[in-house]
Amino acid sequence: MHGASMALSEFELITRYFRTCGAQRRDVALGVGDDAALLECPPGMQLVATTDTLVAGVHFPTSAPAASIGHRALAVNLSDIAAMGARPAWALLALTLPAADEAWLTEFAAGFGSLARAHEVALAGGDTTRGPLTITVQLLGHVPHGRALTRAGGRAGDLLFVSGSPGDAGAGLAIEQGRLAAPPAAAPYLRERFLLPTPRVALGERLRDYARACIDVSDGLLGDAAKLAAASGVGLEIFFGELPVSAPLLQALGPDAARELALTAGDDYELLFAVDPARAAELERELPPAQWNYRQIGVLRAAPGAVVTRDGTVMEFSHSGYQHFA
Ligand code: ADP
Ligand code: MG
Repeated sequence: MHGASMALSEFELITRYFRTCGAQRRDVALGVGDDAALLECPPGMQLVATTDTLVAGVHFPTSAPAASIGHRALAVNLSDIAAMGARPAWALLALTLPAADEAWLTEFAAGFGSLARAHEVALAGGDTTRGPLTITVQLLGHVPHGRALTRAGGRAGDLLFVSGSPGDAGAGLAIEQGRLAAPPAAAPYLRERFLLPTPRVALGERLRDYARACIDVSDGLLGDAAKLAAASGVGLEIFFGELPVSAPLLQALGPDAARELALTAGDDYELLFAVDPARAAELERELPPAQWNYRQIGVLRAAPGAVVTRDGTVMEFSHSGYQHFA
């Protein structure tokens, strides 16, 4: 090969960038290179499977760095596995590329690979095609039989918790797209929360022992909370004043707009979970909220529907956060 101008064959591309991209795992009996992968699922475990696609210009701005695209393509799937209370193990990567740009591929594989290795995820196979930039990751993991968390186990009276500080990624995307001007002290942090989200994998696995229902927040906290409540056959109340917002988001938007964004923005990849009030003291003892970074923001209740209250009064609330930057 004599540099980037030379066309890279599909075989060379896969070997160079993806054969050793993820973690090395003993339970990959056969990985990249054959017609399909062979994976050993541990006895007593259920296989957990999820897939998510990122389309350039739809799920991320075309300006996003390649390392961020690689990171996010895996992170959004790790977040789904975390929400099931499961442990991730194996990924498949279907990559559609407009061209074999070696600088881009190096960065993409670095972003994907470092997150994969951090969570001990092996890249066991995939597919590579030419076309408009689109990344599909399938992620497989496992969970002890019958122990997975779902959206459906919540009951009226359960306490509703969320991890992290929702809204940051939504503000970061708006900054990335030039729709929001944040102060220099806040902008880099917010941008990074969009470009490099933190899937709460360790928290999800630990929540298996405490949560009755769990969902990952990808499409906006209020809407995703309503999905959990509906699946559980209950309603919910969120306490506006309890929504955790980061100092940079407060600095960029002020307290009211920051909390509105926390409710409506997407791309957070935090966990929202419901806990039996009788188990809450044990949860907070075993997983200290300051250390595990979560907070109670509301309750599930018998009356259907999702309401947000402030000082006991129901707030009128639009589900669309984008208008804030129009
Ligand atoms: P086939 O034509 O049999 O599907 P491919 O040439 O598509 O074979 O793939 C060859 C091998 O490389 C397979 O093991 C496949 O899983 C793997 N592979 C292809 N693309 C990727 C990718 N982007 N990331 C990881 N593995 C890949
Ligand atoms: Mg193929």
